[in-house]
Amino acid sequence: MASCWNKRRSALGSILQYLASELTGVRHVIARTLLVVAVFCVNSLIVIAASDYTGGFAALWSANASLVFMLMLFPRKEHILYCSSIFLASLAVNLFSDFPLQTAISYSLSNVLEAMLAYLIFVRLGFPKTGLYNPAQLAKFGIVAVIVTAISATTASLGSNEGFGMSWLSWFGSDLLGLLIFLPCFNIVHATLTGTEKYIWPNNRRLEFAAVLLLVFAVSAAGLVQSIIPLLFLTTMPVFIAVFRFGPLGAMASTIIVAIVAEFFTISGFGPIAALDASQITKIYVLQAYIASQLMLALPIASLLADRQSKVEKIIEHEKLLRLMAEKAHQKADAAKLQKIRLLARDELTGLSSRRHIMEQSEQAFLRAQSENRILSIAIFDVDEFKSINDQFGHAVGDEILRMIGKVAKRCQKSNQLIGRIGGEEFLILMPDTSIAEAEVQVEALRLSIMDARLSDRGIGVTVSAGLAESSGADDLKKMLLLADIALYAAKHAGRNRLEIAA
Ligand code: GH3
Ligand code: MG
Ligand code: MG
Repeated sequence: MASCWNKRRSALGSILQYLASELTGVRHVIARTLLVVAVFCVNSLIVIAASDYTGGFAALWSANASLVFMLMLFPRKEHILYCSSIFLASLAVNLFSDFPLQTAISYSLSNVLEAMLAYLIFVRLGFPKTGLYNPAQLAKFGIVAVIVTAISATTASLGSNEGFGMSWLSWFGSDLLGLLIFLPCFNIVHATLTGTEKYIWPNNRRLEFAAVLLLVFAVSAAGLVQSIIPLLFLTTMPVFIAVFRFGPLGAMASTIIVAIVAEFFTISGFGPIAALDASQITKIYVLQAYIASQLMLALPIASLLADRQSKVEKIIEHEKLLRLMAEKAHQKADAAKLQKIRLLARDELTGLSSRRHIMEQSEQAFLRAQSENRILSIAIFDVDEFKSINDQFGHAVGDEILRMIGKVAKRCQKSNQLIGRIGGEEFLILMPDTSIAEAEVQVEALRLSIMDARLSDRGIGVTVSAGLAESSGADDLKKMLLLADIALYAAKHAGRNRLEIAA
């Protein structure tokens, strides 16, 4: 659903951008001008028609907001054309609405002046690229709206045949509210369609959004249709629900609903404002103040909440990143530790197990054999007359021989065996679940393989002597190693290059 809406939204946005800038022919310029003028005039006529009930005073002037919005949307070089056309159209609308010529001219000029001024300042301030999610920007938007509507209220009132003060206040109120309420709405639509700003549309909470707006409508209607009990304050509650649940979008949508319902009932003569014992213009002021109070309650809070929310999201994002980094550092440390353990477990020269590793493994294997009543054999073998190899060919060749023994041992090693170097030229074979008879065969095979092996470039070979022992004859590993060592010593004594089994 959401992606479907996103597709449609971006398609609409592209059409809008296409309409706005890529169609540059004269026909297109005229079409855009006509569109701008039509939107402005329809807006004006609706508001003027509505304000006939109120004796010519409009509570909310939305036409200028629509003009500012269209100036933001369409090419800048056509702005003079739009504004002069609107001036003429506005003049016609005003004359059609029976305003005197001087008044019609000053009203029309003021409208165009206000929209152009608002557009120029808003664009300079980065509006609409940054909008309602930024409290500072929202405050600037409010201040600019007050300044430009104050200016246009002054120019309009100079040409008005009403009293200057009355006219100024009425113009200022209706234009200011019109800008404050409708420009953000147009901006939201524009930003959403073109993707300039990411408004958080409640795609997966549409039902809740509709329900909250319906609640706003129902409560405003109930409060504003009757004047028996003055319930104007009641709308604050659903507006706040909209603000807290849907942020700036909820604030704008609910304020518009309250504004339209309030204006509709008041100009139709219903509700607590219409029932005031006051002049028509005073009622309009009260209505404007009421709508403004709703807007000023909803929008700043929504903006602050949204700002806070985005900060919280940033903090959460940072925290996630930190946790990820810590995890990675841990993993790195673990890997380094493992690597160190692996290095410690391996004898560098021969690639066989290190003394430390094979001793640990032997200890465990011995305990296991003892507790589970299993057999275990070990053998120690030692290179014969290795000193003379070193003496004769040098230490490096001696090392080569040890490396060669490592290779042969690995090749002969059974899957359940472990072979390690426990001294300079002394090795240990750990053979769990292997009887002394099986062990004898295996160690003998290894001894013969070592005897047959030669250093490839020099043809030098060595022999080894081995002593074999099994666990049943010993109380602990130390004793078992001693037995194997004694057997090895016996093998050396008996002429070397042989295997002896511990007695
Ligand atoms: P035997 O048959 O009685 O074992 O005689 P052997 O010469 O092998 O015994 P001995 O214990 O007298 O000498 C061992 C020699 O092994 C002494 C030492 O120089 C040599 N050796 C010990 N570790 C290394 C090593 O890592 N590399 C080399 N090249 N030689 C080593
Ligand atoms: Mg030796
Ligand atoms: Mg030795």
